[in-house]
Amino acid sequence: MDTAIRLPQAELNIYNKANPVTVPIIENRIATATSSPNIVRHITFDVTGTELENRVKAGQSLGVLPPGTDEKGKPHALRLYSIASPSSGEDGHGRHYSTTVKRLIEELPDDNRLYLGVCSNYLAGLKPGDTVRLTGPSGKRFLLPEEPEKFNYIFFATGTGVAPFRGMLMELAQLNVQPNVILAFGCPYRSDVLYEDFFEGVREKMPSFQFLKTFSREQPRPDGSRPYVQHQISDNPEFFLPILEQPNTLIYICGIKGMEFGIYQELMKSNLAQYLQFRHGADPQKEEIGMDELRKSIKPGDRVFVETY
Ligand code: FAD
Ligand code: NAP
Repeated sequence: MDTAIRLPQAELNIYNKANPVTVPIIENRIATATSSPNIVRHITFDVTGTELENRVKAGQSLGVLPPGTDEKGKPHALRLYSIASPSSGEDGHGRHYSTTVKRLIEELPDDNRLYLGVCSNYLAGLKPGDTVRLTGPSGKRFLLPEEPEKFNYIFFATGTGVAPFRGMLMELAQLNVQPNVILAFGCPYRSDVLYEDFFEGVREKMPSFQFLKTFSREQPRPDGSRPYVQHQISDNPEFFLPILEQPNTLIYICGIKGMEFGIYQELMKSNLAQYLQFRHGADPQKEEIGMDELRKSIKPGDRVFVETY
């Protein structure tokens, strides 16, 4: 079996901060099935007639330049948002690309003041017809490989980190020979599941697809800790191990930073060290490996694709 991974050549920064493109948005809707304190919106940009048309790939991000200036009087910095569409866009012609934006709302610890994130709240407040300044695309590794039908995929996502997997799944579902795919998704509560109807519906087109959800704040694990996406590997070995043990399986990780090493720890526990690279002197045979040691000694291997922060 040819398991060599060849990534497509992705185009980068067709537009940049000094030369952004202004496009209208054509859709802005809630991405959860019911209302949730975690407000996440599905927003679609119409890039028709611009140099972005049909040149953005699933897994890449676009930059957004919010209007206005920061407290120092400088123009607001650019923020990145993952594409939630397949490479062919929502419309099949690469003209409409969506993203999944969570409103950043926090109470500041010092004085209990409410802080509203600049760009996420700007985007979430836009209406169809309003315009936005975009840059990009960016990202050249977090992509589906060439000949995607030759691989199996395990997608791990937390929160809005699921955005790229919506696009990638749409793309994989269009293939003649469909791969095995598991999406392990984690969020605080059941009401925070994003695109639930879409992901639940994927099995109709792709019967081998599994959608596994983990709610971190509903039911603690037996030891009192919060359940996280990575625990799915040992909680559901019957789904994961037959796929993870194959040489043509790829792992994609997107979302909160902490999940990355949590996943590596679970891979080690399940004797799946083949997905990882060990820095000089590290011992992959060691039975229990603590998080601090893991961070120092392990890097993702060639079959692992990571986009976290
Ligand atoms: P900001 O205003 O930038 O605030 C961010 C933080 O800075 C706050 O938590 C706050 O604590 C602190 N802060 C800033 N200014 C102040 C102040 N004056 N006083 C107090 N605190 C302050 N996000 C998504 O929702 N969806 C995506 O698909 C997505 N994709 C991404 C892809 C990549 C590759 C990367 C790197 C990021 C992605 N993000 C995504 C995150 C996104 O880029 C933004 O960081 C996010 O939306 C928050 O931006 P904001 O302008 O709303 O918040
Ligand atoms: P969210 O809805 O708050 O969900 C995040 C989930 O991850 C929560 O259930 C949280 O649990 C859990 N979690 C916390 N620590 C974890 C760990 N160590 N391992 C595994 N799971 C853990 O998510 P969100 O607010 O959308 O944020 C998701 C993150 O992804 C943000 O940092 C966002 O900026 C980032 N993001 C990145 C990209 C990208 O790089 N392309 C794209 C989109 C989003 P508890 O809070 O209950 O502990």
